[in-house]
Amino acid sequence: MDFEEIVCYSQTVILALLVIGYIVNFMKEDKTIKKKVETKCPSCDFKIQDKNVQYCAKCGNMLSHSDGLSLEK
Ligand SMILES: [Zn+2]
Repeated sequence: MDFEEIVCYSQTVILALLVIGYIVNFMKEDKTIKKKVETKCPSCDFKIQDKNVQYCAKCGNMLSHSDGLSLEK
């Protein structure tokens, strides 16, 4: 096997690993973003995107602070 063939082969492997790593990273980031956004009112399932909101804008239900703290951990 020539040196150039080895270089070409290793470059293909590195490229494949980079693509796989990029896909895995993208999937992980997508999951974490969804977890942060998915804060719902326990009584009416209204989506709440602001963490500082204490009351549901739709039904006025008070949101529990303990749930928010556990999500941050
Ligand atoms: Zn609500």
